[in-house]
Amino acid sequence: MINFNVPPYAPKAMDYIQECVQNQKICGDGPYTQKCNEWIEKKTGTAKCLLTTSCTHATELAALLVPQIGPGDEVIMPAYTFVSTADAFVLRGAVPVFVDIRPDTMNIDEKLIEEAVTERTKAIVPVHYAGVSCEMDAIMDIAKRYGLAVIEDAAQGIMATYKGKALGTIGDFGCFSFHETKNYSMGEGGALLIQDEKNVEEAEIIREKGTNRSKYYRGQIDKYTWINYGSSYLPSDMNAAYLYAQLEMAEEINDARLAIWNRYYDTLKPLAEEGKIELPVVPEGCVHNGHMFYCKAKDIEERTALIDYLKARGVHSVFHYVPLHTAPAGLKFGRFHGEDRYTTRESERLLRLPMYYGLMLEQVDYICEKVKEFYR
Ligand SMILES: *Cc1c(COP(=O)(O)O)cnc(C)c1O
Repeated sequence: MINFNVPPYAPKAMDYIQECVQNQKICGDGPYTQKCNEWIEKKTGTAKCLLTTSCTHATELAALLVPQIGPGDEVIMPAYTFVSTADAFVLRGAVPVFVDIRPDTMNIDEKLIEEAVTERTKAIVPVHYAGVSCEMDAIMDIAKRYGLAVIEDAAQGIMATYKGKALGTIGDFGCFSFHETKNYSMGEGGALLIQDEKNVEEAEIIREKGTNRSKYYRGQIDKYTWINYGSSYLPSDMNAAYLYAQLEMAEEINDARLAIWNRYYDTLKPLAEEGKIELPVVPEGCVHNGHMFYCKAKDIEERTALIDYLKARGVHSVFHYVPLHTAPAGLKFGRFHGEDRYTTRESERLLRLPMYYGLMLEQVDYICEKVKEFYR
């Protein structure tokens, strides 16, 4: 069986974790957390990176940092996304306002955002699906004109760029995921990227249970105290050590993923030219990270048949994201603005093929052969 995902692993992880254990330094904000933060700051150019326990938590932390976001406020986002995008704001009592996606990238349609803005709108949350950027110039322009915060759900977007800028560094806040299904993993983990220095201190305080312990650790104060609301969003340094080993070989992992992605694309292109399937689109100005390879079947029936066909031939393919506005919690907490032209229709056609660091090009060829066979 060719698995859909195999979590990334870097051989040095074992040495680094052993070091944490031997030094009895496994709590949060240890040396490896520092190294990861610095690596991400250097790579992306963000003003500040704070490693977190998940991307979900990074988004929650961002939601706490957007001034006065509370009950009845509205946050614009796509419905074609993972639940965390909405959860972070629903926890604050805000209403997710779902806007339709573009069928080419599966990202929020930037042309539909402005008409969804109301007096209560506080933020826009673009999700960079498959590591392909949303149309950020248009989104930042709307945000600026209406005074809205922008929180990028860049869970899938590390190492990808938009017009030369790293995803996660264009809005006020960016959120990365290091879950084991992502390009780099610490099992469970994430990061909050902060663009404006003025938000850093408050972010550090909320992440540390509402205390100024981060300042204390840096020797800037001689005792720490409770100064704001907060929670505990810092991961164990052992997890950071596991991640750091992968960050050290980030380019190698990224190149390998792109090679797999390109092999899929080139091999399946003839089938797309015959009009049998559709392939992902990467717009001008976007550099992606090979996070995902998907194709689209004609409809949900054809997709189900293709998944079964591949499964019977040892290939595990999957689909995902029941659009949030159709889920029980989405019906309860959110609303869809405008017409659902593409969100449901396109989500029912999309099929994800195996993609992970270590997948061999011969395996990709085999998978493509089976897809072609299905359509013959
Ligand atoms: C994976 C993912 C998340 C959640 O990441 P966690 O680290 O598991 O919390 C959020 N949004 C998107 C788009 C994702 O793909």
